[in-house]
Amino acid sequence: MYDNVRINGGRLWDSLMEMAEIGATPKGGVNRISFTEEDRKSRGLFTTWCKAAGLSVTVDKFGNMFARRPGRSPELAPVMVGSHLDSQPTGGKFDGAYGVLAGLEIVRCLNDAGIETERPIEVVNWTNEEGAILKPMIGSEVFTGALALEDAYAMTTPTGTAESGLDDIGYKGDVALWSYPVHSYFEAHIEQGPILEDEGLRVGVVTGAFAQRWFTLKFEGLEAHAGPTPMAIRRDALVGAAHAVIAVREIASRVDGRRGTVGCLNPYPSSPNVIPGTVDMTIDFRHDDEEDLIRMTEELAEAVEAIAKDNNLDYELTPTVHISRIPFHETLVGHVRKAAEDLEIPHCDIVSGAGHDACHMAKVIPTTMVFIPCEDGISHNEAENITSDDSEAGCNVLCHAVIAAANMTQDLELSS
Ligand SMILES: [Zn+2]
Repeated sequence: MYDNVRINGGRLWDSLMEMAEIGATPKGGVNRISFTEEDRKSRGLFTTWCKAAGLSVTVDKFGNMFARRPGRSPELAPVMVGSHLDSQPTGGKFDGAYGVLAGLEIVRCLNDAGIETERPIEVVNWTNEEGAILKPMIGSEVFTGALALEDAYAMTTPTGTAESGLDDIGYKGDVALWSYPVHSYFEAHIEQGPILEDEGLRVGVVTGAFAQRWFTLKFEGLEAHAGPTPMAIRRDALVGAAHAVIAVREIASRVDGRRGTVGCLNPYPSSPNVIPGTVDMTIDFRHDDEEDLIRMTEELAEAVEAIAKDNNLDYELTPTVHISRIPFHETLVGHVRKAAEDLEIPHCDIVSGAGHDACHMAKVIPTTMVFIPCEDGISHNEAENITSDDSEAGCNVLCHAVIAAANMTQDLELSS
């Protein structure tokens, strides 16, 4: 009965462009870091639009925003749909904003079509997804109880604490965290990778998110003068680190689907005429296959031991982050896949390599995601780009999947 429902792609695009004026950068991106004036303004515009669409807006104690469209059965738990409006300092127009404004467009579309769903629908804007000044995805982490509110409040930012930051922008709300049952959570997002574009597809049916294992690695050698110290007796920690960077790349390239990155590398004392005595570095491994991810860590341990031996270095390899593979909810994934099939939108199953608020939600609330292609797979970059056609196609799939969930009268079991 909803087969003919279509979102308004032009209106969605116009809203994306208007939102992108807040914090617009000269290179065409946005700078909307949490707890800044731009964060406040984007929240204000979102609120204005939500109220114009007849939604009631509440803000919880960590600034997460929920805009509710009532359902026919007020006693039923709502379906949530959203993402985040904050950005990296040199971020793009679509990472996050697409998911929030696609949620809003669904509500506008249902209003236009005079459709009442059984369950309420809530459009969500999570606080500080990006992690530009606080740890990433903290709004959803606090909401789901994985991080205590008091601990989150106390976290420091460049200008104070998370609590003072929320106060500064007037978004330390009074609604308790996760104070009522939630039926399900949907998040639309740009893919942030090249797969959909390369395959000529328009929608990714996201079945889950990669498992992750992160490490810090410290090499210790001996600081010495760059001139008098012969090459053969050096204990150069940076040479060890250089071999480790290559080893990470080799390990990750050995098997399809593996990912390995050294993102930080700090030699000490970092002086042109001193042989580096110490290097601290990070390693980020990700994989869809949890068992193979363990093999990656074993290969890393072997490689680091050999590198340290060859270069006469001491080392400490320390695990820091372990995130299990996160499966999204089969029923909701099915709603998304069926919507793409019914609408004849080219799609494939895909696994998210990046973390999203949906990853925190998936642990406690039935959750899934919808991806759309982004140009050259680029994000966290002012050049980040999508097409208006893909934006529309993804939102139509999201809309049909959300309607299906919002008309389910039964609750969903959280799959283990
Ligand atoms: Zn994002």
